[in-house]
This record gives sequence, structure tokens and C-alpha cells, in this order.
Amino acid sequence: PTIYGDGGPLAHIPDDVTIPQFFFDQHHPLGGEALYHRNPAYFIEDATGRQVTADEVRARVWGLANALHIRWNFGNNDVACVFGPNHVDYPIVIWGTHRVGGIVTGANPSYTADELVYQIQTAKATLLFLHPDSLQVGLEAARKAGIRDGRVVLFDRVPGDDHLTVSDLIKEGLLQPKRYVEPRLKPGEGKTKLALLFFSSGTTGRPKAVMIPHYAVIANCIQMKQYADTRDGGKPNDQKLYRSGDVALGVLPFYHIYGIVVSLHFYMFCGISLVIVSRFNFENMLKSIKRYNATHLSLVPPMIVLLCKHPAVKNYDLSNVKMLTSGAAPLSAELTNQVARILKNSGIGQGYGMTETCTTFSFPQLDTRVGTPGSAGRLIPGTALRILKPDGTWGGIGDQGQLVVSGPSMALGYLDNPEATAETFKDGWVYTGDEGYVTEKKDLFIVDRIKELIKVRGFQVAPAELEGHLLDHPDIADVCVVAAPDEYSGELPFAFVSLHEEVRKRVAQDPKEEERIKQSIFKHVSDHKTQYKWLAGIEFIDIVPKNPSGKLLRRLLRDRLREGLAAG
Ligand code: AMP
Repeated sequence: PTIYGDGGPLAHIPDDVTIPQFFFDQHHPLGGEALYHRNPAYFIEDATGRQVTADEVRARVWGLANALHIRWNFGNNDVACVFGPNHVDYPIVIWGTHRVGGIVTGANPSYTADELVYQIQTAKATLLFLHPDSLQVGLEAARKAGIRDGRVVLFDRVPGDDHLTVSDLIKEGLLQPKRYVEPRLKPGEGKTKLALLFFSSGTTGRPKAVMIPHYAVIANCIQMKQYADTRDGGKPNDQKLYRSGDVALGVLPFYHIYGIVVSLHFYMFCGISLVIVSRFNFENMLKSIKRYNATHLSLVPPMIVLLCKHPAVKNYDLSNVKMLTSGAAPLSAELTNQVARILKNSGIGQGYGMTETCTTFSFPQLDTRVGTPGSAGRLIPGTALRILKPDGTWGGIGDQGQLVVSGPSMALGYLDNPEATAETFKDGWVYTGDEGYVTEKKDLFIVDRIKELIKVRGFQVAPAELEGHLLDHPDIADVCVVAAPDEYSGELPFAFVSLHEEVRKRVAQDPKEEERIKQSIFKHVSDHKTQYKWLAGIEFIDIVPKNPSGKLLRRLLRDRLREGLAAG
């Protein structure tokens, strides 16, 4: 009962190269750096307008790789953690690490020190790249995680601070003869050689390091480009929808799979220049769209809500935008139609994917301006999909059930976690934990999420992580965290809490006590967790419902919350 993505036989995907070898040292018939003839800038620094050409990128990557090797003998399967927002040198750090055979783990710069320590330790990172904005938290985490001060590198110099910078390393590397020996992969090795350890909580439990090989990133770029080219019906490159000379706005963070694969590598494969935006600010984004004549936007739904509702939008000419892609969370049909009225010349559509599938599984339809509003896009070439119906049998076109997916971009599993890996990765298939269906035309619709995961503005919040933390609160006996719907963020975490017996008695005697305890629970989360994980609400219940084997009945509470909210 397998449903395949259309678009003809998939183009050749080299399986014996790393990401930088593929993007810089080879030519591929569908794309690559040869396309940068109309606009030689690979990157444009949003704040300054500074352009970075392919030659500069190559040289900086080379210099960094050399220094990583000479200074620390950093190389084969060593892990570098990057903690910071986007920066023009972020890609340099990724590719420099890859050139020496290392692996990159990107961390969300809004993390608290404890959250970063967890990521550093889980991914076993031994080198830390820090954005100056993240300096204090980063240094505290490095200390706690045992990364020596000499192995902390800053993206830019901070006055009064004597840590090395990326530019120091590059200069040092360029001044010396080439010492590093770049690993060459055997045929097929690209499928197992790890490039990225990006974090996802999967179907259940705490965030885990997803093992993503070089091949997966390369494959996904080829799949997307082949799909887009097929829709363009054999037009020459200059007339294609994704073509050299175009400009994309890189507001999506590189520490999330959608940002690193679509915004960075896919656009580069298309010959599109990327404006690297450090921090998302809506009005600045409007200015940058105008200033750089941006043609492509990859956004998450809350940013699209702003495009539809923010009063400043009418002051900007956005007519140059020709393609807006939304991903990481559902975009409703209503919002799709609304934003189509604002971006009058732009195609609008969604992609669907996840960290475990090294991003894109479906891509905007592209054959009409807004496709089918509400659809999560169309399956791309090379993908295979099965529908696991609630009764445990396999369905076909039109049947609703869990999406079980496969293709060349699948990750290999979770690092050091065979149990979670076995649950989600089975015989080359990824059990997504998402429920949906697909139409005759291969348009995908996501209907619900079966897994625990909560998505706040596209970011993952793992209920198990918050529950573990909440159980440390002295008043809490048991807890279950579920998603509450939210117009702007999509979802927000909400806690059902069962209090210890004696605390419950106190609450019964003194009505003020209830509010005091709730405030102290809110604070318990906000003191230790990054803001998008903060609780939107708390409800006290006598017992947290569980099935006979002790598993939390999340759905019951989630539905109860939704009904309660609907009833006002
Ligand atoms: P992440 O690994 O952080 O990218 O999260 C992946 C999850 O985001 C998926 O399993 C879905 O639950 C959700 N997701 C991604 N794209 C979409 C979409 N277009 N519509 C609905 N949910 C989505």
C-alpha cells in the first residue's frame, strides 16, 4: 500500500561525498554553485548589506578547517556545538567542521544554561561556538559541561573578552600550509557518515540527538530542486521559479532543520543568494524584503500571521516576492488566502517535514498560485508514504491514519538511544506520529498529531521534559502537560497538576493559596526553561488519568482542555 511521490525517477544522489564536497567541489546537473552567475553573492549580511562571495566562503572554510586540525586535532566524528542566532559565519563553521570530518549540533540561543548543558552532553560536543549575544549563558554551560575555556570560540570579538574568534581561527589556518587531510568517503559511506546532530523529542520523551548523515541533506536538496524543476516544465534556468539571481530571506534559524536544509543548503543549490538575518524582527524583515528585493521567503505560521495583521505591512512594497513557503507547523486555509491578498505576485504553499526526515517530505504545489489552501503540500520525488490506520491496517489514497514515511533523506535514529530509535525508525520507515491523508494528486493533508510533541511557533516543546521538571516542584504529586491551541503561537504548553494531599487540604481551606501555588509553578518553569516552554495555564485535578500500565492519557486531557476552551 505504498504511495510514491511523483516527478520521475530521482536524479543521481552521490553517496560518497560530504556536504561541502558536494556543494563546492562537484557539479550536479540540477544545481550547485555554477548557478551563481547572475548574482555572485552567496550570502548578504542583513544588518550591513555586506556580500560574501563563493571564493570568500571557500577560503574561510578552508582556513577554519586547517585551524581546527592544527590547534586541536579536531576531526573525525568530533562534535562542535553552535550556540547562537544566524550569522554569516554560521555556515562557515558548519562546513569547516565537515571538511575535517566533524559533526555539528546547533542549539537554540534562547536556551538557558541547563538546557544547553543537556544538549552539549547528549551530543557529546567538545567544542563550542558562541554568538556574542549568547556569551554569558554559553560560558556558564561550557563550565558545567566541562568544555575548557580554550575550546570556546566566539563569532565576533567582544570588548574585554579574550576568547578566540572564528576570524582568528580562519586567519591562523590560512597562514599555515594545509595540514588537515580531508576524509574521503567510500561508495555508500555518505549514507552513514554523520553531518548533523539536531534535536527532536520524537514521539515521546525528552529531546534526543537525531543522527543525520551527509547523504540526507544532499538528497533532500536534490529532491526539492527536481520537484520544483518538474513543475517549471523544462524551462531554462533563467525562467525557473527557483533560479540564480533570486534572493531569499534567511530568517529561519540554522539550528532548526528547516532553516539549515531549506534556507541554507537548498537555496544555495538553486543559486539563490541568502540574506542572513540574525534575529527575527517583523518590521526589519519588511525593510529587508524591500532593501534586498527578496523573491523567496521561507517562514513559519506566526510570521505569516504578522504579515496578515501587522499595520506596518501596508507601508511596504512586497511585490517582488514570488514564493512564500510555510513549514514546521500547520498553516490554515484562511491564513493562506489572507496572505495571498497581501503578497499579490507570490506563490504560497506549505511544506511538511521533520528533523527525523531531514526536513522536506512535501513541498508547495507550485502549479497554481496558492495550491489547495490548507494542504501541507505535495509529496516530492523519491518519497514513499504509507498510511497506518487507527485499526492497525494499512490504508491507501484518501484514507486517514498515521503517516509512515521513507525516502533518501531519512535520519538514522537517535544517538545512544536504541529504544526510542526502535520505536520511530523501523526497516527504513519513519513513524512520524502525525496523522493525515493524501489525495490522488499526492497532496498531503495533516489532520492531527498523535505524538506528545507540542509545537510553539514551530519550536519543539517536549511534554516529558516539562513534566520531569514540574515533578521537582515541592507541591506537585503528578502532572501531565498538553498542547493548548493559540492563535499566534499555534500551540502553548498547559499543565494539568495533581497536588500532594496536604497541599490540597491547604488549598481547600484558603482560596488564596490556589493562586499562590499556581504562581510558584509558573515561576518554577520560567526560572529554568526558555520562554517558549513557559506554561500558558495550569489546572488542578485530583488525579492525572492513566491507563492500567501507567501511561498518561494525554489525549483525554487535551480534548478536555479544548472542550473547556471552546465552551469559554
Ligand atoms: P521538527 O522536527 O521540529 O521540524 O517538527 C516536526 C513536526 O512539526 C512534524 O512531525 C509535525 O508534527 C509538525 N509539522 C511540520 N510541518 C507541518 C505542516 N506543514 N503542517 C502541520 N504540522 C507540521
